[in-house]
Amino acid sequence: MTRRPVELRSDTMTLPTDSMRRAMAEAEVGDDVSGEDPTVNKLEAYVAELFDKPAALFVTSGTQGNACAIITHCRPRDDVIAEERAHLVMWEVGGWASLAGVTMTTVHAPRGVITAELIESAVKPRDVHLATTRLVCVENTHNGAGGVCITAEHMAEIGRAARAHGLLVHVDGARIFNAAAALGTPVGDLVREADSLQFCLSKGLGAPVGSLLVGSEAFIHEARRVRKMLGGGMRQAGVIAAAGLVALEETPPKLPQDHANARLLAEIVSDAPGLTVELDDLETNIVFFHVDPAMATAVEFAARAEDRQVRLIGFEGTPSVRAVTHHQVSEADVRFAAEVICDVAAELAAAR
Ligand SMILES: *Cc1c(COP(=O)(O)O)cnc(C)c1O
Repeated sequence: MTRRPVELRSDTMTLPTDSMRRAMAEAEVGDDVSGEDPTVNKLEAYVAELFDKPAALFVTSGTQGNACAIITHCRPRDDVIAEERAHLVMWEVGGWASLAGVTMTTVHAPRGVITAELIESAVKPRDVHLATTRLVCVENTHNGAGGVCITAEHMAEIGRAARAHGLLVHVDGARIFNAAAALGTPVGDLVREADSLQFCLSKGLGAPVGSLLVGSEAFIHEARRVRKMLGGGMRQAGVIAAAGLVALEETPPKLPQDHANARLLAEIVSDAPGLTVELDDLETNIVFFHVDPAMATAVEFAARAEDRQVRLIGFEGTPSVRAVTHHQVSEADVRFAAEVICDVAAELAAAR
């Protein structure tokens, strides 16, 4: 009998639930570019209140949310400080350069968590030769570092360092609800120090489309113009916003189970021959393991798991394989996946 594949490539692979589809079918809609979509307006008001910020804006994607934030906060010739593996540095087509006209000063933070000292070291002096440091971007949770969380206390330290130099702070909180669940801190407390935040409805929260950008009235007013410029003015967007409202209500309570499933997977896999798991950095739903290069590449490893109905990402040119848990992967699925991963490793180790 063939089994349904266990989808661990990303939490973006989550499919809309029946309750989301019902809400989408029944959503009250209007033209959102004119501010007349009641469902989008409801989502934006709900999110602003949830994050304890004055205003919010529904955008097409996390990438668009980050682009709107950088373009709104910065002018061309400004410089942005970010961790070198940050999603907006690496995986957003370099939009900061082409769309915002800014440069990027990257720092290496061992667990992905930027410190006050790293900010200090990256701020440029005021000098006729130099770009003007304007913005610090912080990723919570940090995807490339394995889903590591930034605490409210640490955010306060980042905020102090930024303010000391007159810098703004943007949080790429694609998975901020995972951080909130893991830390037991409300999302509002995690962004108290931030001038803006974007989070994704379409990752672990499980909605099909969309992100929200949150900040001051003036910031959101200007970001709305930028969104329009980028082609993100959507008309009857209430049909997708409706799914987002359901996701915000239904999914956050499920995230602790996703984290427990990730831990379970990592612990079982850590006993497999030739695999090394970063257990210390495992705080949320992202598991990274390294494959002994004498055994296989990460891409080959993922292909073998795929043959047995377990979907992982093997990163090209690296030994890293990633598995991401989400609410549509059960504990039984995770146990099955862990068994497959251990079997693949054992076969490769025997052939080594
Ligand atoms: C996925 C992701 C984004 C971008 O979101 P898209 O909706 O895929 O554009 C931004 N930041 C982080 C940390 C992400 O994981």
